[in-house]
Amino acid sequence: MAGMKKPEFDVPELREIAVIPPIAIDAMAHIKPFVAKAEHQEPLGFPGELVDDWKDRAISKMDELLGKYRSLQVFMDACVKCGACTDKCHYYLGTADPKNMPVARQDLMRAVYRRYFTFAGKHFPGLVGATDLTEEVVEDWYRYYHQCSECRRCSVYCPYGIDTAEITMAGREILASIGVGQKYANEIIAKVHKIGNNLGLPGPALADTLESLEEEVEEDTGVAVKYPLDQEGADILLVTPSADFFAEPHVDGLIGYGKVFHQAGTSWTVSSHASEAANFGIFIGNYENMKLVAMRVREAAQSLGVKRIVVGECGHAWRVAYSFWNSLIGPFDFLDESFPVPQHICEFTYGLLQRGALRINKEENDDKVVTFHDSCNVSRGSRMGDKPGGQFTIPREIIKAACNNFVDMAPETTLEHTFCCGGGGGLLTDDLVELRVKGALPRMEALKQVVDEYGVTHMAALTTVSAWT
Ligand code: SF4
Ligand code: SF4
Repeated sequence: MAGMKKPEFDVPELREIAVIPPIAIDAMAHIKPFVAKAEHQEPLGFPGELVDDWKDRAISKMDELLGKYRSLQVFMDACVKCGACTDKCHYYLGTADPKNMPVARQDLMRAVYRRYFTFAGKHFPGLVGATDLTEEVVEDWYRYYHQCSECRRCSVYCPYGIDTAEITMAGREILASIGVGQKYANEIIAKVHKIGNNLGLPGPALADTLESLEEEVEEDTGVAVKYPLDQEGADILLVTPSADFFAEPHVDGLIGYGKVFHQAGTSWTVSSHASEAANFGIFIGNYENMKLVAMRVREAAQSLGVKRIVVGECGHAWRVAYSFWNSLIGPFDFLDESFPVPQHICEFTYGLLQRGALRINKEENDDKVVTFHDSCNVSRGSRMGDKPGGQFTIPREIIKAACNNFVDMAPETTLEHTFCCGGGGGLLTDDLVELRVKGALPRMEALKQVVDEYGVTHMAALTTVSAWT
C-alpha cells in the first residue's frame, strides 16, 4: 500500500498447508514490550521500579499465588512432558522460537518453582531441572510471558488441562509486584481508574461522539436512532469497549447496537463513569485491579437505576464479565431477576431474532461472503445462552440471519480450536508488532484458504483482531 512503512522483519508467507516449523533457538529473544515507568506502576499499587529485594519479594509473591490459586500449584506439578501442546501455540507456529512452546513457557516458572518450593529442587537442583531466580531468568520471564496472549488454546490439547494462560498471568503479576510491569497494560488500567475508559476519553468527548453518531445514522437511514449517555432510569446499561466510540471498524458495532435497541423499542444508555468493557486487570493477572475496573460497572448500574446490563463485543471483556463479575462485583440483586447477568449483546440480539422482533433484509448483503473468527476468550473462557456451545452457535445464527453466504474456516481453527488473532492478552501494542504479525500466521492461513476456495469477502469477529490492521 502506498506510503506504508516496510516492516523491519520477515513477514511470514501464507502457505496452502500449515507446516510445523523446526525450532529456531532465541528467534524472538530480541522482542519485549516497553517496561512500565513509575507513573504507570504506582497508580496500580505496584512499586515504581525494580525493588532492591526483588528476589525475596518475587519468591514470596510466588508463594502467595501458589496458596491462593490451587490450580497454579497443580499446573506446576502435573506436567508429564508428553509434548501434546508443543505445536499448538500460534506464537510458536509463527516464530519457531522453542520458548514459545507452551510447555517451555511453563517451564520458565516451573524451574524456579522446583528450586524454591520442592524438596528435590532445594537439594538436587541439577537433577530436576530447578533454576535459581536470577536477573537473566527475570528477563526471560518478561520476554516470554509477554509472548503469550493468554488464549488457552494449548490447554485444550493438554491431557491434564494445564492452562499456560494462568501461568502467564501469575508470571506477569510477580513481575509487576517487583517493579517490572508492562507499560501498555498498566498505563491503560491507570487511565480507567482515573477517567473510566482505556482511551482516557472524558464525559464531554463521549457526549460529542454519541451526538455525531446520531446525526450520522439519521443521515444514513432517515431514522432518529438515539445513542444516550448517562440516562437515568433507562432499562439497559450498555458496557462496551471504548474503542467502539471512535475507532474503525469498532464504531460500526456501536452503531449496530443502537439500531438493535431502537428496533427492539428498549430504553438504554451508556455511562460516562463505566465507559469501558475491556478489563486489562485480567491480562496482568491482578484481581485487585480487575475488581476496581469492574466495580465502576456496578456503581454506574446502581446510580443510573437500570434493570439490566448488556456487554458489547470484546473477547476478554466478555470473559471477565461472564467468569468473574459475580465474584468481583456481585451480587446483582438490584437488577431485574428475569434477565441473566451479564448478558452479551449477541444473546440480546439472538433473543430478538427468535421472537421475530428484528427485521433484517439479508439480500442487501448478497454481495458478501462472510466467515467468522471465534474469539479465544469467548470460545475457551466463557459461554453464551442456556445451551452448551452457545458461544459458537449464537454468533453464527446472527450472521446467517443477516447474510445468505456464510462459510466457516477449517475445523481445526474454529470453535474451541480457534487461533488467536496474534494481538490478544494485552499484547496489542506497537512495540510487539513483529510478534503480532508472526503470531497471526495460523489464523491468516485459515482465512486465506476460505478466501481462495469460497471467495470470502468479510470476516466477522467478537474481538478486536487489530493485530491485522
Ligand atoms: S495460552 Fe495461547 S499464547 Fe499462551 S502458550 Fe498457550 S497457546 Fe500460546
Ligand atoms: S500437553 Fe500438558 S502435560 Fe503434555 S507437555 Fe504440554 S503441558 Fe505438559
